[in-house]
Amino acid sequence: MREYAVLGGGIGGCTSAALLNEYGHDVVLLEKEPNLGGCASTFSHAGHHYNAGATTLAGYHEGGIVRNLFEKVGVVPNLIATDPGIVVLQGTYEIKRFMNLEQFVDELQHSHPHSKHTEFWNLVHEIGKTFYALNGHYYSNQSFQKKLFSLLSFTPMLKKFWPYLWKDARSFIQHFYGGITSDYLDFLDAQILIVAQSTSDRINFFTAAVSLGYTFNETHYVLGGMGTLCDTLTSKVADVRRHCAVDVIRKKKDRYILSTHHGQIEAKNLIMGTSHYESSSWFNDTAIKKYYNRYEKLNNHQSAFVLYLTLKSKRSFHHHYQIITQNLIPHTISKALFISFSDVCDTQIAPLGHYSVTASIHTDARCWTDIEPSLYQRQKKELTQLLQTLICDTLHINTDEIIKSFAATPKTFSKYINRIQLGGNALTMDNLLPRLPSNNTPVQGLYQVGDTSYAAQGWPGVAMGAMNLMKLIHE
Ligand SMILES: Cc1cc2nc3c(=O)[nH]c(=O)nc-3n(C[C@H](O)[C@H](O)[C@H](O)COP(=O)(O)OP(=O)(O)OC[C@H]3O[C@@H](n4cnc5c(N)ncnc54)[C@H](O)[C@@H]3O)c2cc1C
Repeated sequence: MREYAVLGGGIGGCTSAALLNEYGHDVVLLEKEPNLGGCASTFSHAGHHYNAGATTLAGYHEGGIVRNLFEKVGVVPNLIATDPGIVVLQGTYEIKRFMNLEQFVDELQHSHPHSKHTEFWNLVHEIGKTFYALNGHYYSNQSFQKKLFSLLSFTPMLKKFWPYLWKDARSFIQHFYGGITSDYLDFLDAQILIVAQSTSDRINFFTAAVSLGYTFNETHYVLGGMGTLCDTLTSKVADVRRHCAVDVIRKKKDRYILSTHHGQIEAKNLIMGTSHYESSSWFNDTAIKKYYNRYEKLNNHQSAFVLYLTLKSKRSFHHHYQIITQNLIPHTISKALFISFSDVCDTQIAPLGHYSVTASIHTDARCWTDIEPSLYQRQKKELTQLLQTLICDTLHINTDEIIKSFAATPKTFSKYINRIQLGGNALTMDNLLPRLPSNNTPVQGLYQVGDTSYAAQGWPGVAMGAMNLMKLIHE
């Protein structure tokens, strides 16, 4: 019998397997797809390579959570720094989100002039910097005592950020500036949404500041594609099984029995690296199903529509753009499209003179699941065309430079990685700790990692959850 089985090779599963291995535990990692990484994987389609969803690595700066993780595991990813972190295109303006605060504020003064920018963005930077320097949080909501420990662990943070926790970010920002334009609000919301998975009216200012400030730390481009991060991280784990979908999980008294196409695996402990909203589907045990179903109320059905392009172009592009439009884009819940280009030198992902492009936008999963197949196809075609035109018009790309174009809807993600809600739990004011699921469960030997449990989405959030899991396992 194995000591630990990890189901799902997304960021959470890979991080957990790598850390368990490093701590000397026996572990097997099971991934359904040929590639590790899930939402943050890199895949091939008709001979071209693409990042499936995630494209930016935050948290790898000196002392950052992701850097700490890789150092703990003793492996080094192949990265190059990205600065500006994002080039925002709004109307006729190009606003570069430089790492240097003064340089960025200078940019902002051209598009959205205001005398309070320096003060505002310094506050944003300060909150983010202090938050990321506070290491070692503990979080579990599985007993009164554990909740108390969690509260104690978060006390320094609560003390520091108290004034920013109770008011919604939009009111805070309006009050701080003494009024802002709707264009500037769109600018802020577009960037808050990609990190917090919500807009300023539904989150507190602390969460908004951490979301807005991530470009003031180093951000990185991953050479060879985002998926190589998971490959590198798990390179020391002896038993990583790809193409290994788990169909059913049975809980016995002292073990979990996982049925896969390649036979059964028995493990004393099980770490689910799948989404909380899907995890129950593999179990027959009613107590386990009941536990997962308790969190269904957190499901906001938010998801993503992703357009993949291969371009043949002699031009050079920044790594990341965000195009902000005046109105909501049809079939989506956003005014902003995030577009990432492969690095011009990254021949692992696209040959010289070619670019691999991943462009994503928030959508409601139900817009895609609750419709007739013919309408689904029409809607997919319409949005693909619309986004392609938006990208070409804004970035001055000729359509004949596009040599490949296709898209993924929430249904596509469901087909390949078994999840339809994407981006994890939104960190809204009514969705914070202790309501967020912790990385342990009430069931003996059953754990949960990933962006629908603590500490939410992206490399930094999911890594923080896996590090917390190690504390819970070893306490
Ligand atoms: C469009 C988009 C853009 C994003 N951009 C960024 C970004 O730039 N930077 C960033 O840091 N984050 C970004 N994110 C968020 C980030 O990608 C996710 O928060 C993170 O990847 C989720 O990781 P996870 O561990 O929850 O696993 P998931 O990605 O959900 O992976 C779960 C894994 O489990 C596997 N699995 C499912 N069922 C089974 C089964 N039965 N048997 C075996 N394996 C199974 C799946 O195949 C998958 O590999 C983005 C997300 C999206 C959707």
